[in-house]
Amino acid sequence: MMKLYSTNNKQKLFTLGEAVLKGLPDDNGLFMPSYIPKLPSVFFEKLPSLSFPELSFAVANALIDGAIPYSELEKIVFGAIDFAAPSIALDPKTHILELFHGPTLAFKDFGARFMARTMSYFNRNEDRELTILVATSGDTGGAVATGFYDIPGIKVIILYPKGKVSHLQEKQLTTLGKNITALEVDGTFDDCQALVKQAFLDAEINSHLRISSANSINIARLIPQSFYYFEAWKQVFDGQAPVFITPSGNFGNITAGLFAQKMGLPVKKFIAANNANDVFYHYLQTGEYTPKPSVQTISNAMDVGAPSNFARIMDLYGSTWNNVKQDIQAYSFSDDATLSGIQEVFDQYQYIIDPHGAVGYLAFKEHQKQNPNDIGIILETAHPSKFIDVLPKEIANQVNTPDRLSTLAHRKKVATQISIRFSEFKDFLLSR
Ligand SMILES: *Cc1c(COP(=O)(O)O)cnc(C)c1O
Repeated sequence: MMKLYSTNNKQKLFTLGEAVLKGLPDDNGLFMPSYIPKLPSVFFEKLPSLSFPELSFAVANALIDGAIPYSELEKIVFGAIDFAAPSIALDPKTHILELFHGPTLAFKDFGARFMARTMSYFNRNEDRELTILVATSGDTGGAVATGFYDIPGIKVIILYPKGKVSHLQEKQLTTLGKNITALEVDGTFDDCQALVKQAFLDAEINSHLRISSANSINIARLIPQSFYYFEAWKQVFDGQAPVFITPSGNFGNITAGLFAQKMGLPVKKFIAANNANDVFYHYLQTGEYTPKPSVQTISNAMDVGAPSNFARIMDLYGSTWNNVKQDIQAYSFSDDATLSGIQEVFDQYQYIIDPHGAVGYLAFKEHQKQNPNDIGIILETAHPSKFIDVLPKEIANQVNTPDRLSTLAHRKKVATQISIRFSEFKDFLLSR
């Protein structure tokens, strides 16, 4: 049965249920599987005939190893992984893995949907509802809210900063209804986060409600992100282990790829593609890890100055720089370079790539200079319509916005306005 330890203390083991409901261990480490199983060769022989949900289930079943009963896990995986991850060949060596076919058009849908169902499962015997508090600066809130939408036994309260999220992002947060409630906070993202933190420390709130967080470093968000590395491999593999290029911010997505490799997926190299936030790139160059304040870029979901999954990568490699360097390479690109990457992909292949995917594309082009025969699979982490404002105009005009995004514009926003005073937030929670 899957057990987990904290990266700060390998002696104490936790169940999957504890890790999922807690999110973070008390010692400020991150939960890691105590054991990552190798998939048998028969799995790889069968892989070409498995559908995406079927192979996902096989991977999950091996990793989770009975911590969720077979039939329940089947429901969770088939419910969460219900949209495709197609791989598109730009040329015979350059493949784009489209991870944006979920409800909020970004790969975060995989993690959010799996986490919501897993939390609901571990919460099943509680007679009291679980209330999830989330502060969001934009994108994560949408994926989390949509992931938990209509999940039994769980309510979600999202706090977002008034006037500081994009129009469509706000619609994603405020038009769902049912078990999702949006609070529009007259303050900044940091204020929203401070309110949530204070709520967790408040005895009265804790006795009135069972509260939890849907933290981005919850292990239940990482597990499903390993599935699509197998799915990509299944679609692209022709006898040569591929290079995976992962546009990276908090490094959760690439960590999930490292899990897949540990489970036996043949990978030649991982490439962490960074924008100007290049802390990891510097670590690979120098062996020194020096977090920095983040800088704003057009690939803003990667604007992270202290990647939270760094601790997990160190754990996987026993903090040995040379071993990390053997498996992972990194590149960093400016916004100007990113824009020319978008233009190049459009001109050469008539494909519209979003700014995050473009950073990945540039990283692979750089890698190809030394490794011209490598096959690259670039993870396209979001649909370009989400970043239409920063695309070159002539390209922006040709983006097809999927209906699920464009119809949001007409839905009615429902949000409760609150100030940044904790007492107001507390009254709101106690009245529920
Ligand atoms: C969150 C996000 C990333 C970064 O993923 P990490 O797991 O944090 O490295 C990249 N691209 C997009 C579009 C994202 O939303």
